[in-house]
Amino acid sequence: MYDIAVIGAGINGCSVAYEFAGAGKKVIIFDENSIAGGGSGAAGAFISPKFSKAGDLKDLLHDAFVYSMEFYEKNFPQLLIKAPLLHIAQDEESSEILKVYKSNTDFKLQSPSTELLNSLNTEAKIKEKIYMTGGVVDASAVCHAMAKSARFIHEKVDDLVYDECMWIINETYSAKHVVLATGAYKSVIKEPYIKLRGVWGHRIDVKTTTQNLNSIHQFVSISPSKDGALAIGATHNVHYHPQTATTPYDLEEGRAELLEKALRTLKLENVEILKDYTGLRSGSFDYLPIAGKLVISKETLAQKDINFKVKNPNYDDYSYYPNLTMINGSGGYGFVLAPYLAKMLKEYVLNDKKIDERVQPARFFARWAKKL
Ligand SMILES: Cc1cc2nc3c(=O)[nH]c(=O)nc-3n(C[C@H](O)[C@H](O)[C@H](O)COP(=O)(O)OP(=O)(O)OC[C@H]3O[C@@H](n4cnc5c(N)ncnc54)[C@H](O)[C@@H]3O)c2cc1C
Repeated sequence: MYDIAVIGAGINGCSVAYEFAGAGKKVIIFDENSIAGGGSGAAGAFISPKFSKAGDLKDLLHDAFVYSMEFYEKNFPQLLIKAPLLHIAQDEESSEILKVYKSNTDFKLQSPSTELLNSLNTEAKIKEKIYMTGGVVDASAVCHAMAKSARFIHEKVDDLVYDECMWIINETYSAKHVVLATGAYKSVIKEPYIKLRGVWGHRIDVKTTTQNLNSIHQFVSISPSKDGALAIGATHNVHYHPQTATTPYDLEEGRAELLEKALRTLKLENVEILKDYTGLRSGSFDYLPIAGKLVISKETLAQKDINFKVKNPNYDDYSYYPNLTMINGSGGYGFVLAPYLAKMLKEYVLNDKKIDERVQPARFFARWAKKL
């Protein structure tokens, strides 16, 4: 029997596997595709904070950014490029947001060099900017490195039964605790209050004679150069979904859009496309990530003593799946959030440390139940 079974080997599942294996637990991880075969393999995997005015997501990503930069640097230094991060406003509205962010932040901001400014296109050059230290990880390699300490099973999990204090997976494997890390793909356990939005993304690796030393974000994200190549990526196509689309995703169109957007920011010369990566990222409906135990809606609704209309519900009153947690909904920040949330999950499962209520799945149940 395994201590922990993780379903889904994206950055969330792999971070969880790494945390628990590091704590001496016996971990098994499943994926119907390969490790990093979902959204994680497509990611540019930039490590950056969220540049917004205020709010829970900004605060959470601030802490997750600080944590994950240290985490990757300490544990996977060979897979992290610590590079200056240049975030450029797209329009007037984002320009205002950046101004407010700059006036409040405790991060050390720098001024871009004249050389960097000259490498930008005219419009990008004059727009509001933030320049600070950030990072980029090798998306696929970091997932593989994290999953190394667990047993990997290339199999779809479609049968999950709790029996005699353990979870039986596909009638073959058993584990004391299960972590669902299935991203934007169909969940193994269906609960009506968990609604995730899959947004399609496309990244291209390109060969170019332009040498770029920075992570640049404006209409798309552009990575620093490595061996004469760099990555351009975005999760931009809210209309395309691989599980519902009737025609295949148009790679040529996606490439053209990525290049056109990158060229609006940076002067790139002699560009040749080397490789495409596509995938879905999963976001929650309030944009905050999800980590923690899962409410059993049927059982909880049947509890006559709970008033679901109260303003500040007590999550402890709800019924939960035994020994089961989930981690998901990281939006465009999976590589920033995963190490931070995986640590939270580990501390909850092993030491009973309470998980931040802002990320608990119960918040969705509370909202959903209130409206019934
Ligand atoms: C183009 C693009 C660019 C991005 N850029 C960045 C970026 O710069 N920085 C950043 O932090 N984030 C970025 N993201 C977002 C990031 O990729 C996601 O937040 C992250 O991948 C989510 O990880 P995950 O583990 O939740 O999901 P996934 O990586 O999708 O993993 C879920 C896995 O679960 C498996 N699975 C599902 N159901 C089952 C089942 N029943 N049985 C077995 N396996 C199952 C799937 O096969 C999949 O591999 C980007 C995303 C895209 C698409």
